[in-house]
Amino acid sequence: MSFSASVITLFPELFPGPLGASVLGRGMAEKLWSLEAIQLRDFAQDRHRTVDDTPSGGGAGMVLKPDILASAIDAVSPPGDQRPRILMSPRGQPLTQKKARELALGPGAVIICGRFEGVDQRVIDGRQLEEISIGDYVLAGGEVAAMVLLEAVVRVIPGVLGGAESHADESFENGLLEYPQYTRPQVFEGVEIPPILVSGDHRRIAKWRLEQSLALTTSRRPDLLPPAKS
Ligand code: SAH
Repeated sequence: MSFSASVITLFPELFPGPLGASVLGRGMAEKLWSLEAIQLRDFAQDRHRTVDDTPSGGGAGMVLKPDILASAIDAVSPPGDQRPRILMSPRGQPLTQKKARELALGPGAVIICGRFEGVDQRVIDGRQLEEISIGDYVLAGGEVAAMVLLEAVVRVIPGVLGGAESHADESFENGLLEYPQYTRPQVFEGVEIPPILVSGDHRRIAKWRLEQSLALTTSRRPDLLPPAKS
């Protein structure tokens, strides 16, 4: 069974978008993963195909109706579907590389893209939606967030990106930011590739890279480092 993603959205035409390009697109063609985008509006009950209504208690904007969203979720993910149900939401747990890896090893995901002011709390609770955020800022809708989540997940599905070693050194994989990368030409605008990288001494190269990773992480993201022992 390969990883199966179902995305519930008011804008299914945005998919696969970037998820269909490059290695992810190839992985899809090779059936390492699959994607369906479901139009939420198809589950509306009235002639105007209404999916939202005004917020109870007042305030700006509109809220996605729980009945319509629940019907869509139930149709896409019937009882017995083992896939986690995820709501893209700025209130959610932050997306991490660890989370992406966990999801990549599972059967897939049902992903709900919010719009407007968000979704009725009763469908979040009633359908046990796990809220995930891609960062501390507010987007206009969950579609780009869903693509970010899926891109991070799909590229770590075994087979999608080639050798496992292509992940091992990456930012976050070892708890650190990645060291600087270089490639030819040997001299660019008068600047040489650090000589150690062309020395052929793999032990010293590994040590240099680790030092660089530590220095970068210390200056840019000290929050990633383990707390100093007192
Ligand atoms: N009123 C909401 C924001 C709604 S933004 C609040 O203050 O929490 C509209 C939709 O965009 C959300 O329902 C969500 O699906 C998506 N979205 C916005 N920012 C996001 C983020 N940082 N991460 C994931 N999804 C986000």
